[in-house]
This record gives sequence, C-alpha cells and structure tokens, in this order.
Amino acid sequence: MPEGDTIYRAARALNRAIGGQVVTGFETALAPLARVNDDTPITGRTVTHVEARGKWLLIHFSGDLILVTHMLMSGSWHIYRTGALWRLGRSRMRAVIRTAEWEAVAFNVPVARFHTARSLERYSQIPKLGLDVLAEGFTVETGARRLAEFAAANPKAEIAVALLNQRVLAGLGNVYKSEVAFSAGVNPFRAMETITPGEMAQMAEFAQRYMKANVLDGSGDGIVTYFGNRRTTGNSNRDERLWVYGRQGQECRRCGAAIMMRKQGEQARSTYWCPSCQPWIALDPTPAPVGRTGVVRRGKVGC
Ligand SMILES: [Zn+2]
Repeated sequence: MPEGDTIYRAARALNRAIGGQVVTGFETALAPLARVNDDTPITGRTVTHVEARGKWLLIHFSGDLILVTHMLMSGSWHIYRTGALWRLGRSRMRAVIRTAEWEAVAFNVPVARFHTARSLERYSQIPKLGLDVLAEGFTVETGARRLAEFAAANPKAEIAVALLNQRVLAGLGNVYKSEVAFSAGVNPFRAMETITPGEMAQMAEFAQRYMKANVLDGSGDGIVTYFGNRRTTGNSNRDERLWVYGRQGQECRRCGAAIMMRKQGEQARSTYWCPSCQPWIALDPTPAPVGRTGVVRRGKVGC
C-alpha cells in the first residue's frame, strides 16, 4: 500500500504541473468516468487543486467535479510533457488529463470515480479524515490530543492499529506505523489505555518528522509512483534506512536484540518491533505478544 506521504508527494507534483491549468483534453478507459465526461465534459475546466486525503488522491476541477482515485497496490500517476513518450503501455492507461504543457496519466489505477462536493461528502469510503499528519495545522499537541481522544473511546485498541487508522491520524501507512512505535519505545501491541500522554506526544512528533522528511526527500518531479525510498533512521544507505520495518530476525540497531514480526489487527498487517526497546506493558495479566524472528527469505517485502 502506498503511504500517505507518497500520495501527498503525488498530489504536490500534480499540483505543480496541472494545478491552475485549463484542461485541453481528457481520455479514459474506465466506463464510469467516460459517462461523466460525456455528460459534463472535463475539457475546458480548470484544475483548481490536487489534494491528498490519506491514501486517496483528489483532483478538483472547476464546476464542482472531483476525480477521486485510490492507487491500491498497482496504480500510479505519471506526469509527462504533452506529447512525450509514456513509460508504460497505453493498455495500462486508465485516465489522462491533458493541459497545454503537461499530461497527467493514471496507470492501472483500480479505483477512480468522479464526485461532486456533495456526493464526496456522502461517500463513506473516503476517510472522514482524522488529523492529517502533513497538514499545516498539525502539531505535536493536536496529534497527541487526537490519540488521547481515541484512547478514551477505545481503551483496548492496540496502538499500532490505531496509528494505521486514518480516522485517527491521517497519512501513516504500515511502514511508518512500526517505525513510529519503535522510535517512541512503545510496544505496538499495547492497549491504548496503557499509553501515557508523553508517549502519545512522542509518537505524534515522530509521525510528523518522518512524514515531512520523506516528503522533502522526493523531488516531486517527473514520474510519480508510490514506491519511494522511505527513511527514518536518518541514514540514506539503502540497507540502513529503517529501524525495524522489514527487519525480522535482524539485530536491533539500538540494542542488538532480534527484531520480531507478527501479523496484527483485523487486516493482519505485518508489525515489526524490538521486544527489548519496546517493552510490554498491560493493565491486566495479558502475556507479552511474541513474534517470529526467523529470517525471512529476502526479496520484496510487502507493506
Ligand atoms: Zn532494541
């Protein structure tokens, strides 16, 4: 899954290229989009702005029309000079927004719909967003307060599941979930009721720091995909970018203990942690969760 920062980067790059521009052409291979385009043509409208909302990308056009896409695992938006050769085949094209200078091309985007402001409001799948970690108004205080509100309403929820919940904090994905919990020294399986205000503040701070660093990292120009190089350790060496994510069975960079991995939550997402740097704390006698430390076959690590 793309992380919020990558979607944010995609939105920023699209904003730079086509934001404020008049659409000179629109093509799509998706019938629901084509229908709307036939009834209320996109050509001639202005792209007012492009917005990332969690993992959704929203392209706003003048005249109350919003193209909403979710890239899931396979999709990407590319930006090309109008007329330049695409890097992917035409058969994978799902939509093209053309302006005088640029073409924004959606490849393999599995979820794409036009909305009006009103239908968007009613569309429940697009998160009624929690506090966006990358928004201007986000501070450690507001982030910690949001976590505290969620803890009060969901005392038994596990912290790493809460960190992924886009209605709590919008933007964090599965990689940063583990990285943020590690950085704050919080065992990812702890119940919200055990998390102290200080730990919440630390997690809010690391969430913002990592997301911002990764946004700044990307040049935002040229091809936009969500397979960016994430970094949390401050080390740009490819093999030393992350503290715990994808490092099952390897030594903790702080203490040398073996990093554990365990599937967590209803969606069974992989969670990585150091059992020594992130000690177990429970209000009841629940035993500490144990994960696998066997080294996985190297190769692509899913997130
Ligand atoms: Zn450790």
